[in-house]
Amino acid sequence: MLVDSFPVGPLQCNCSIIACKETGEAAIIDPGGDPQQIIEAVKRHNLKVKYLLHTHAHFDHVLGSKAVKEATGAQILLHSGDKLLYDNLMKQGQLFGFDVEEPLPVDRYIEDGEEISLGKIKTSVIHTPGHTPGSLCFSLEDKESILFAGDTLFRRSIGRTDLWGGSYEQIINSISDRLFRLDDSTRVIPGHGPDTDIWSERRENPFVGSLA
Ligand SMILES: [Zn+2]
Ligand SMILES: [Zn+2]
Repeated sequence: MLVDSFPVGPLQCNCSIIACKETGEAAIIDPGGDPQQIIEAVKRHNLKVKYLLHTHAHFDHVLGSKAVKEATGAQILLHSGDKLLYDNLMKQGQLFGFDVEEPLPVDRYIEDGEEISLGKIKTSVIHTPGHTPGSLCFSLEDKESILFAGDTLFRRSIGRTDLWGGSYEQIINSISDRLFRLDDSTRVIPGHGPDTDIWSERRENPFVGSLA
């Protein structure tokens, strides 16, 4: 398993490349900008990108998707709960003062419980509404477990719920009922900022912590 994460785009969204080392099959989680940087990383690792997985459809997680798809032929995957946000990507950009171009159509809507195979590895889809209606986390289990948490769970923080379709009650439930049931050792790569792990968030997250 190969995992390469780096911040991209105007809001420094964490973009992650995940791949099966044996077959070179890969997915990119949140191509949120700087498509040339993403494409160069794909070439450097010599990968075949099958999917662009989106944790949600805020523009800062989608900005690079069009160019990366055009360069790699990968499919755009999203949860249907964020269709409206995706269809209004340009409007989102205007609201935050960024120039956003019309996105390419979604190739397939994915749901809770689905497993997405990349060569000999697979990532499971966890629906965690709250930050947006269609927010997803992707969990990868190999020698170590990794959760790509999007803007649902951050190090000692949680995603904002005051934007369109957000719900504070839902995000708290998503984190405590779904994410905090994962193994304590699971490493968490959030949508922005530094890594964390389930164990320390269960104890120290001021929004949903102390549930241990
Ligand atoms: Zn977001
Ligand atoms: Zn974000």
